[in-house]
Amino acid sequence: MAEGYIHSTESMGTVDGPGIRFVVFTQGCPLRCQYCHNPDTWKLKEGKKVTTESLMKKIKKIKPYIERSGGGITISGGEPTMQLDFTLDLLKKAKAEGLHTAVDTSGFVESAKFKKLLPYLDLVLLDIKTMDDLVHRDLTGVSNQKTLNLVELLEKEKQPYWVRQVIVPGITDDLEKMKEFAKYLQRKKYLEKIELLPYHELGKHKWENLGLEYKLAAVEPPSEKKMAELNAVFKNYKINIA
Ligand code: SF4
Repeated sequence: MAEGYIHSTESMGTVDGPGIRFVVFTQGCPLRCQYCHNPDTWKLKEGKKVTTESLMKKIKKIKPYIERSGGGITISGGEPTMQLDFTLDLLKKAKAEGLHTAVDTSGFVESAKFKKLLPYLDLVLLDIKTMDDLVHRDLTGVSNQKTLNLVELLEKEKQPYWVRQVIVPGITDDLEKMKEFAKYLQRKKYLEKIELLPYHELGKHKWENLGLEYKLAAVEPPSEKKMAELNAVFKNYKINIA
């Protein structure tokens, strides 16, 4: 039995992997992304303590719906690798039930640790916040080196993955940098697709409630035109775009 801290669960998730998904949002994150819409997941011990058994009970109840949709379970966060044993145990249990499994991670984890999850994972949703390390440090508080190391691990281990990036006007929407990013991803064999997600301000009130300064207060979501322009970069490089 494994115990861990979670923020919440969602039984009919449709944006964190294929089909309908039971999503577990784990508590605790070592990053401090300026656009984080769940800053209430940051502190590990502020979550709800649960067992993997109790989560599996909930999952089994909706298993037929999940399976009919081609879905599965996704462990998201927060950062699921912060509670590695808990995440590992939940993945093992889900796999034993024959479910499709995914984790959504920032990649801020030692590759050797992440490798333990791979035998029980069908898909990795990897958030590469930006390829520019200086911008990454400013945007998230940490370097992107571990994330890029993880890309190499996923390639080496032939692990299918999707890459996701939030497009923040003035920070991650530079066309030339996006071309560099596409060039980098073009050579990846196990990358199934990339999803560019427009920045939104939905988490802003949570920052205010927590008494935190929301540095992106003046930033507007990107226009549809800008998103189309950036998406086109990946199409040009023949990378599957969501
Ligand atoms: S990695 Fe996710 S949960 Fe952690 S700070 Fe960034 S957006 Fe928030």
